[in-house]
Amino acid sequence: MPSSKKAHKAAAALPESIVEATRVGDDFKLADVDPHGTPGFAGDKALGTELLAESADEISELQERLYAEARGENPRSLLLVIQGMDTSGKGGIMRHVVGLLDPQGVDLTAFKQPTAEEKRHPFLWRIRKALPRPGQIGVFDRSHYEDVLVVRVNDLVPASTWKRRFGQIRSFESKLADSGTRIVKVMLHVSKEEQGERLAERLDRPDKHWKYNPGDIDERRKWEAYQEAYQEALVKTSTDQAPWFVVPADRKWFARLAVQQILLETLREMDPQWPAVDLDVAAEKKRLADS
Ligand code: AMP
Ligand code: MG
Repeated sequence: MPSSKKAHKAAAALPESIVEATRVGDDFKLADVDPHGTPGFAGDKALGTELLAESADEISELQERLYAEARGENPRSLLLVIQGMDTSGKGGIMRHVVGLLDPQGVDLTAFKQPTAEEKRHPFLWRIRKALPRPGQIGVFDRSHYEDVLVVRVNDLVPASTWKRRFGQIRSFESKLADSGTRIVKVMLHVSKEEQGERLAERLDRPDKHWKYNPGDIDERRKWEAYQEAYQEALVKTSTDQAPWFVVPADRKWFARLAVQQILLETLREMDPQWPAVDLDVAAEKKRLADS
């Protein structure tokens, strides 16, 4: 790479600042986030795509370390929660960001409408069953947050019930973190206009018809109620132990880069270590030579 291009990259990239720029703090206002923006990143699509590919190796090594570390005394795991309105790009994140990981080390769960059995249990029951095993990266495509989002907006339970859930979620996530699971939560923030275009595309293209769900239009009509529900959920459940990141999602390449950098930065902070192995290397080499 020519050095001028390198310098340009260094200046524009600063991936840690994407992480800082998208984190939800106390005075967070969802309405102030531009879904078309690229907070913390001054580069263009070409640079973003290049950076995405470049970070794959470092993530892979960290993932392998996390996996190997779990063979030792203090196994840990990581849970990545992905939320967003219909068409916000959750599927693309699964393919283009999670897809870069070693599938052996990934526990992926997509949460749909609760089944009859799930409905008979408290809302966290199916979540507990899907938590990542030691050494794994768990990924939730939708999550327990649906129980304060779609459930709230559609009055599926009394208000007193969903209101109580913020505290229940905070305490659940705090215990989970204490037991060795790092939690990061991402909301893909798409604009209503962009969602309109993506739904229109699904109708226009026969190869996208399978993704089209007439019910998405009913939810789209409740856009403001969803934004309010997200605002409250984000602010009430973004904690040091389980922070939220709101990632603008109108530009798919940026959303993918941002989620990857959040994952990368979290793994770097976890700093998983190869387990200490009791192995007499010299003796084994001799045995190998003799075999
Ligand atoms: P999709 O992600 O497009 O496959 O759709 C899954 C659907 O399941 C979405 O419409 C969600 O809102 C819905 N869903 C997920 N979790 C829940 C829940 N706890 N209660 C009601 N609906 C849910
Ligand atoms: Mg859908």
